[in-house]
Amino acid sequence: MAVPKRRKSRSTTRHRKAQYMKKLKYIKEGLSRCPQCDAVKRPHHICPNCGYYKDAQVVTIKEKTK
Ligand SMILES: [Zn+2]
Repeated sequence: MAVPKRRKSRSTTRHRKAQYMKKLKYIKEGLSRCPQCDAVKRPHHICPNCGYYKDAQVVTIKEKTK
């Protein structure tokens, strides 16, 4: 089994953990971020903001007109 050569610094550990907790927060709430427009969306669903799903535009979103 592979064993880490050196102990990771407190800074490195905390930095990694912070990134993970940030991601975990969205998973807990049942949400994910759109990679296209960075809006909060439901996982495995088309983004309601830009209409993208898996790097391709699936639906054209009508822009709100006053
Ligand atoms: Zn989007």
